[in-house]
Order: sequence, then C-alpha cells, then structure tokens
Amino acid sequence: MTTPTPAVRDRVQALSPEELPAYVYDLGALREHAAAVRAALPERVELYYAAKANPEPEILAALGPYVDGYEVSSGGELAHAANVVPDHPLAFGGPGKTPAEIAAALERGVARFHVESLYELHRLAELAGRLAPDTRVAVLLRFNLPLSEASMAGSSLAMGGRPTPFGIDPSEADSAVRVFTDGTCPHLELLGVHAHLASGLGAPEQLAVAESVVTWAADLAARHRVRIAEVNVGGGMTVDYATPEQRFDWAGYGVGLAHLSDAHPDLTLRIEPGRALTAYCGWYATEVLDVKHSHGEEFAVVRGGTHHLRTPATKGHDQPCSVLPVDTWPHPWPRPAARQDRVTLTGQLCTPKDVLARHVPAPGLRAGDRVAFGLAGAYAWNISHHDFLMHPRPGFHFLNRPGSRGKATRRS
Ligand SMILES: *Cc1c(COP(=O)(O)O)cnc(C)c1O
Repeated sequence: MTTPTPAVRDRVQALSPEELPAYVYDLGALREHAAAVRAALPERVELYYAAKANPEPEILAALGPYVDGYEVSSGGELAHAANVVPDHPLAFGGPGKTPAEIAAALERGVARFHVESLYELHRLAELAGRLAPDTRVAVLLRFNLPLSEASMAGSSLAMGGRPTPFGIDPSEADSAVRVFTDGTCPHLELLGVHAHLASGLGAPEQLAVAESVVTWAADLAARHRVRIAEVNVGGGMTVDYATPEQRFDWAGYGVGLAHLSDAHPDLTLRIEPGRALTAYCGWYATEVLDVKHSHGEEFAVVRGGTHHLRTPATKGHDQPCSVLPVDTWPHPWPRPAARQDRVTLTGQLCTPKDVLARHVPAPGLRAGDRVAFGLAGAYAWNISHHDFLMHPRPGFHFLNRPGSRGKATRRS
C-alpha cells in the first residue's frame, strides 16, 4: 500500500468516472524530492536526468532548477528536450544512433556525446569533420565494464558486466582512445568515460560500481597519458515497488561520492538517474468497474489497465496502490463487492496478463471505489502499449505547477 499526496487524492476524488483513468502528477512533490536529492549530493557532482524515464514537458521543466542537464537517448528525445528545456546542456547517448540523429545533435551543439562503439566514433568524426574547422565535439566513451558479483546479484536489469549491445567492450578501449591520440580526428575531444551498468542498485552497490568505474578510467588515462576530465557513472538507483516508503539512500550515496571525488580532485563526477527521480511523483488513478468472485479468488476489474501502466507487467511486480472509497451507489441493483480480504486488480484487456496488482489487501472493495496506483511517474505511460484494444487514453493532470499557487493544469 502507498498513500497519495493530499493534492493527488483531492483531484482523483473530484474527477468524474468518465475522466478516469488519469495520470496525476504532483509536481510539488517532484520538486521537493529533486531538491532533497540535489542537496544530498556534493556540489561538484553533476546530476543529469535520464529523460527516457518520463519525458513529459512538465516533468522535464519541473526538474530544471535541480539538475545540471538531461541525458537523451534518441533523436526524438533530443529534439523534445532541446525544445522544452533549451537552457540546459544535453548528453546524447544510446545505442544505434543514426547518421541523421548524429547530424541533428551536432547541429544543435549538444554538450556531450556518449559514444557506444568504434563504428559510431568514426561516424561522429566524419560528420563532425564537415563542421567549422575549429569545432570540437566533446565525447564520453561508454564502456561495458565488469560488474562485481555483489552488485550483479542486487541489480534488476544489467546493462553491463555481461554480453550486451551497450557500450564498448573493454578489450577495444585502447583502440578507442587511439582514435583521439593519433591525430586523425581533430574535431573530437575525449572528455571522459561513461558507464551505465545496472538498474535497481542500492547506495552501497552504486558506490562500489562508481569506484570501480573511476579506477578503471584513471588506469586508462594513465596508460595512454591522456587527461580524462569526466566520469559519468550512470543511473539505475533502485526504486522499491514492494516497499515504496523505503527510498534510495541519497544521503549515504552523497557521502560516498564526496569521498570518491576527494580522491580524484581533477575529475568531474556525474550521475544520470531516471526512475529514482520521477517514479514517486506520478499516480495512475482509476475506478473499479466490476468485482467478481472466480474459483475461490476475488478480482476487481478497473477502467484502463496495463496498456496505460505496463510497469507491473514488464517488471513482474504488484504496483503499489491505495483504495479511495466512494460511498454513493446510484443504481437499483446490488453493488458488486469483494467477499474476501484480498483482491487481484486487473484491467480491461482480454488477456490474463493484464494484472496491475495481485492479492491486494482491500477488504470489501466495491464497484465504484477508486484506486490510485503509486510509483507511476517513471517508465509508466511512456513504456505502455497504448493502442492495444483501442480503449480511450487516460487524462493527464499536473498538480502544483510552479507559480500556479496550488492551482493545477490538466491536459487530455
Ligand atoms: C535508462 C538509462 C539511465 C537511467 O536509468 P534509471 O534506471 O532510470 O535510473 C541512465 N543512463 C542510461 C545510459 C540509460 O540508458
């Protein structure tokens, strides 16, 4: 169970059934959380937001005062972020960048390229060569570095330390650095090393990863007698869907990063979380359409489903939620209600996979009651398969916008 903020609760209760389901974002809660994260980090550690977690314009803008920049992973995200937060630097990462995307990024003058392969490095050099002769394009080489056993065990998604399409294999590191040192690519500047190795790690594991990436980068720099000015240790800070009140230990992480940064005073450290910044500010709210008893278990069918909120299906968890009871029942026939204490919450899709949460403690849950699913601010709407079964799209509500004095805006 997880409790919505008062602003979210009030809005969900005020909406008509036809206005549900709806994504409701509390931008005030987001700003508060982002400010706390920023305050926990040493001042000299840079914080980028990985836009793919949730690129809604209101979300990107709300994070603006607390982040140093945004990490974008496609030409679409690049154009979007450049438009929505034009005053912030962008880092362009992601595998399989097309020539057109690279050209567009060069044209926009993105602050950093996170280069994923030797081929991409040559492609970038070729396209950069067409720019003005004095142009210097800042490059961070993304490497797929080994992860320690301990951090592998804790992670829910490993992008590194094992065979994956991400980053450059360490065996090709020397060849990659030579592209900069042999004088053939005068437009490219090797600024640093990037590694986003795993998702779902707690602070101690994240610190162990950061330390090993920094040590590896320092060795690489020493071996080639080059200066490596920046190390981006990626995102992947854990969000605990089973225990939402247990949040990533930003304070402990900040202390650890301060030690690491002190040990390498010439280095700029950067992190780029997505999920752990925005997951908590978003809610997917809906109403119970029907309650059924089936072969000894209770099921509540809600408006919407995993075509709007695919997160529990992709991650295999129960989305934490809160029931907002509605006491009025305007119909002459009996109101469907759960006979047992535990209810499985499903959506409207004709597939048994359309489950938002299993065996939720919701004694007596009735048709017409409302349910607000939490932790729906990241990898939620934007990773879902919206068109499956052609149900209507949810509404979108952004509460506590800056300067709105508590007023909210809506969009659908
Ligand atoms: C997805 C991604 C992130 C953010 O990961 P989270 O788990 O959302 O923190 C950061 N960097 C890169 C390169 C990514 O692909």
